[in-house]
Amino acid sequence: MSMMSAKKLLMIPGPTPVVRSIQNEMGRETIAFGDPAFVGDFSHVVNDLKTLWKTSGEVFVVAGSGTLAMEMAIANSTKRGDPVLVVSHGYFGDRFVEIGQRKQLQVDVLASPWGSIVPLEKIESQLKSKPYQAVTVTHVDTSTAVCAPVEEISRLVRKHSDACYIVDGVAATGAEREYVDEMNIDILFTASQKAFGVPPGLAVLWAGEKALARKKQLGLIPEYYVDFDKWLPIMHDPSKYFATPPVNLIWALQEALRIISAEGLEVRYQRHLRNARAIHCAMESLGMRILAEPAHRAVTLSGVLYPEGIQDIQFRNTLAAEGVQVAGGLGQYAGKMFRLGHMGNIDDHTLVSAVAAIERTLSKLGVLPEIGRGVSAVMKSIESKN
Ligand SMILES: *Cc1c(COP(=O)(O)O)cnc(C)c1O
Repeated sequence: MSMMSAKKLLMIPGPTPVVRSIQNEMGRETIAFGDPAFVGDFSHVVNDLKTLWKTSGEVFVVAGSGTLAMEMAIANSTKRGDPVLVVSHGYFGDRFVEIGQRKQLQVDVLASPWGSIVPLEKIESQLKSKPYQAVTVTHVDTSTAVCAPVEEISRLVRKHSDACYIVDGVAATGAEREYVDEMNIDILFTASQKAFGVPPGLAVLWAGEKALARKKQLGLIPEYYVDFDKWLPIMHDPSKYFATPPVNLIWALQEALRIISAEGLEVRYQRHLRNARAIHCAMESLGMRILAEPAHRAVTLSGVLYPEGIQDIQFRNTLAAEGVQVAGGLGQYAGKMFRLGHMGNIDDHTLVSAVAAIERTLSKLGVLPEIGRGVSAVMKSIESKN
């Protein structure tokens, strides 16, 4: 390696690279949350989120991570003893089981082997078998890089149940197609550090009309910080106080939404799909396999299985020295694969650089027969029209 230290590309599934204009918002002088200049900005953020993800319901922007949003979703839609169905495609799906059990819900789980999805027929027959208060699904499970068919599941939930349909969009929102009302999603949520490309610290949650009605029926809930009713007055008029909003993060989110609007959500979805295909081609050209089945691959990250003879820690350390940070596998795939994030505000330059650094790493580890295959594959795929 040269003496010049390489800029480290953050290719993990969150936090994702934060572009300069968003970083600048974090560096602004912090002002009072009641300052009219900030109140106006916060209102814009709330309204843009509603408009872009198309809901006539409500949006909540609160300090916290994605896990807080999971808890907020469950807290406002269920009460102790309620039956809920968790559709799990990995580690983050399973997290709903734990949250539900803590709340003493009756949790039923439909889980798939890692890399595939729960068959729709199985979900359908489970929904027919008993009435559920809530059904949860993780749009992209970050442990497996599997994308769930949220629209198809939504149709089944509507057809057979009165359940509140909760979609964890933490590794999907802003990259995989999601429209709240059109898709009959009752609660959708994400976190700032994934496909929005904002530093960690904000939870964003959309609640459609049905979820809001369900909350009314529940009355007073035991949870305090995540109670919709505590936040609604703030979301309608951010000059009011409930708990201090993270001023700079909200500015950062405002800039992220400006970038998303300028690009256009549909264009952004297409770009993510194109990039994911290019990464899959590149990894396969280097003799590696993608964990997720082809029909269910996420556009936001890839789980890449190591070929024989590669040691996880050595691979990731060498790659980090080459300037690219990736994440290890979770659970049963710890040591067996790496997870490469490719969501958010990522340009072609970053994509090609990441593949080149992976090639240099494989070459250093003595398992690359020929240099340039991966870069060639990623470039060809980016340039191709389909
Ligand atoms: C990252 C992630 C979470 C948890 O978010 P945190 O911000 O780490 O709390 C939940 N679900 C999915 C799908 C995720 O990718």
